Amino acid sequence: KKLGWAVVGLGKFATQQIMPSFAECKQSKLVALVSGDRAKAEKYAQQYGINPKNIYNYQNYDSIRNNPEVDVIYIILPNALHAEYSIRGAQAGKHIMCEKPMAVTIEECQAMINAAKKANRKLMIAYRAQYEPYNLAAIELARSGQLGKIKAIVSDHGRNLDPKDPADTWRMQKKLAGGGSLYDIGIYSLQATRYITGEEPIEISAITHSTPNDPRFREIEENVNFTLRFPSGILANCSSSYGYSDTKRIQVFGSDATLELDPATDYYKHRLTIKRKNGIEERNIQEKNQFALEIDHLSESIINNKQPKTPGEEGLQDVRLMQLIYQASRTGKTIKI
Ligand code: NAD
Repeated sequence: KKLGWAVVGLGKFATQQIMPSFAECKQSKLVALVSGDRAKAEKYAQQYGINPKNIYNYQNYDSIRNNPEVDVIYIILPNALHAEYSIRGAQAGKHIMCEKPMAVTIEECQAMINAAKKANRKLMIAYRAQYEPYNLAAIELARSGQLGKIKAIVSDHGRNLDPKDPADTWRMQKKLAGGGSLYDIGIYSLQATRYITGEEPIEISAITHSTPNDPRFREIEENVNFTLRFPSGILANCSSSYGYSDTKRIQVFGSDATLELDPATDYYKHRLTIKRKNGIEERNIQEKNQFALEIDHLSESIINNKQPKTPGEEGLQDVRLMQLIYQASRTGKTIKI
């Protein structure tokens, strides 16, 4: 049986990555759309064979409760709208997948978790890298001791924000984005340090810089560098930028070997190398559609009544840590957690 999914927000990521990926899902099918633009929704409904009666707008969204074809709602809106639409969706009796970052504030994240709990529905955050085969291989290599004892992690995520791209205009607005490069892509560096180590940081320091007079950074930050200490002694150095060109990499330094994933968090192409004393090994792993894998993971969690691997609590933890990263940079003080 395939569960029925509704996508909320027909923007760049939803239409270019998520909607096409349902074709590769085994336990999930796209059955409904929620959009403020009826003509756009009708166009996609026709393309994906969705019954036009299953098109909703932001006003009649709550009536989705009366649609038994919809089991799960996938929120792919600007960050500041995640909480409201996740909560309304849970209150409509549907399971929720929500894009990263989970929400803008800790309070919003908590309210989302509470709403899902109250409605007895699952809530998962779409941390695709935790379902992607190259990242899973890196986690296995690091945690099984094959690199020796892990000493340090470096992870960098950056891109050059494009004010002409409609998907980037809301990202320049604090009210809609919640934060700058850290909230949008630095979160991948932060996630990487947590899923590679399997630990939670106990100390944070950070510095930020935004190019003066660059109109893109009037409200949100350009660059954030942050350092984390983990309980086992692992130190992580991360950077996040809206100013440098496409970078998505993770390096793990062990006492015996260094692992490099570059690109680490791309959509369809990854590269994993392991450097040892006696040379460099390139690992070739079967690429899979990580979007289909994460979508099916939530459907399977619902069918088997299991907690998804990346539940709301995982999203909340990142929002909490990102707020501490901002606090550390504001105060210039190392924060002990
Ligand atoms: P986008 O601007 O292309 O899409 C957002 C959609 O929301 C648009 O269709 C827009 O019309 C709609 N919308 C509804 N109400 C709006 C409002 N009040 N203001 C602005 N837009 C409104 O952006 P996107 O790049 O598709 O990002 C959407 C979400 O997906 C974000 O949370 C982002 O972080 C996330 N995302 C995740 C990944 C990933 O790899 N997991 C990649 C890209 C984006």
